[in-house]
Amino acid sequence: MVSFVKLRAFVSLWLPRSVSDTMVLVKKLAILIFVFALSYTAFSETKTYIGHSPDECARIRFVCPEGEEYFSDAKRCGCEKKLAANPSSSGQPIDSLIEKEYSSLDALYKHLHTNPELSYHEVNTSVRIAEELRKAGFEVTEKFGEYPDPKLTGYGIVAVMKNGKGPTVLVRTDLDALPLEEKTGLPYASKVKTKNDAGEDVSVMHACGHDIHMTVFVGTARLLSALRDQWHGTLIMVGQPAEEIAPGGAEAMLRAGLYTKFPKPDYCLALHDDASLATGKAGWVEGYALANVDTVDITIRGAGGHGAYPHTTKDPVVVALQTIVSREVQPGQFAVVTVGSFHGGTKHNIIPDDAKLQLTVRTYTKEIRQQVLSAIERITKGITQAAGVPAGREPIIDLHPAKFVPATYNNPDLVKKTVSAFQEALGKDNVVERIPVGGGEDFSRFSLDDLSVPSFQFWLGAVDPKKIAESEKTKTPLPSLHSPLFAPVPERTIRTGIKAMSTAVINLMKPTS
Ligand SMILES: [Zn+2]
Ligand SMILES: [Zn+2]
Repeated sequence: MVSFVKLRAFVSLWLPRSVSDTMVLVKKLAILIFVFALSYTAFSETKTYIGHSPDECARIRFVCPEGEEYFSDAKRCGCEKKLAANPSSSGQPIDSLIEKEYSSLDALYKHLHTNPELSYHEVNTSVRIAEELRKAGFEVTEKFGEYPDPKLTGYGIVAVMKNGKGPTVLVRTDLDALPLEEKTGLPYASKVKTKNDAGEDVSVMHACGHDIHMTVFVGTARLLSALRDQWHGTLIMVGQPAEEIAPGGAEAMLRAGLYTKFPKPDYCLALHDDASLATGKAGWVEGYALANVDTVDITIRGAGGHGAYPHTTKDPVVVALQTIVSREVQPGQFAVVTVGSFHGGTKHNIIPDDAKLQLTVRTYTKEIRQQVLSAIERITKGITQAAGVPAGREPIIDLHPAKFVPATYNNPDLVKKTVSAFQEALGKDNVVERIPVGGGEDFSRFSLDDLSVPSFQFWLGAVDPKKIAESEKTKTPLPSLHSPLFAPVPERTIRTGIKAMSTAVINLMKPTS
């Protein structure tokens, strides 16, 4: 009763009693309509329905003028992950997904770092990574790979996620560590000791950062699984064993039928941490990025204690081999011939029968590789012949085809489109061009011999920028990859790696319409 009286009083205030009252009321209503229309327009401009249609679910993503976003009714329908997974143009949801996953990824990284395993022995590492991929929703095949030596087990992992029509993209991580004693002093440093294949006691360390690669790989798998509405096609996540050794795991997986038992990729992607690039950055090289690696053993055979040959012949061979790069290869073309080991004899005063040379040869193109290898053979045979080595004692030159690692060629078109996606996701200043290096990587195998599968391996900055500045100032080199002191910055490197790799994949697989 009381409220009715109040209501009547309120309404009567608004009822016109004269023409001028009517005008005032019209003005008041006009102002109200204007204010309502203004706020409605502002409101509807900043809200977007995502994930579901508004009928299916009442959840709405709001973006405030500062760009911050939030969800209405965020707790009710239990599908925050899917909603958050819808990237805005700022890429913010990728960051928030990484944020959600980071603490478990940090634990995974430290676990992998503390428990490294040597090439050909990635037993527990492969089980853990396969388990992670299964949890992320992939169909996983384990122990995939066939080495020439049947005694070796291939610990390769192939994880497939089919998500409608679209390209097939392969993402690869390596799994193995190195026979080195860690000297970083980190609380999670490896203390692992084992026996190598020769039965010697060795320490083991992830000195090439493959633990970073694996953590980024698992983070990327989780993210892409959550972001399934942003890409179409088939995603193949490959855990490759034995990157640090030849014959390597990439070849073993291809031999076992990676491209016939599973969908053949249209593109292959990989990353490698960079021991001289600041964390938070990604680096790229178009074309040849890493070298052909040939291992050559030469045995120069003399005539025991007879003649003048043995004590003079060894050095001339080494010196002459150095002329291949300086005198035979066209200036500007990349080639390295290093005689890393030279061994002959047992004692000062005994002229040996044999001298053994161990070489590593680095080139980029097939043509230069062939030129350099032929020159090594020609020069070695020619010099020993000139020194009067008796017939039947010609040098033995073993080119070890099984140890060959082909050069990594980054497909220019793929590099261009991926780098522009990186620039958008990471910021232009964080995407830098690097120069090709003389190291080798068997990721190159995934491109096939004729480079018919476009591939791109990018660099992932892993170093504290303060340490880079200090090293430039003091001229003290930073610990390189394969150094017992190599200690990448985990958090920023892993976050950047996941963002870069997920962006690269989505960019290749996003719906075209
Ligand atoms: Zn390495
Ligand atoms: Zn490596």
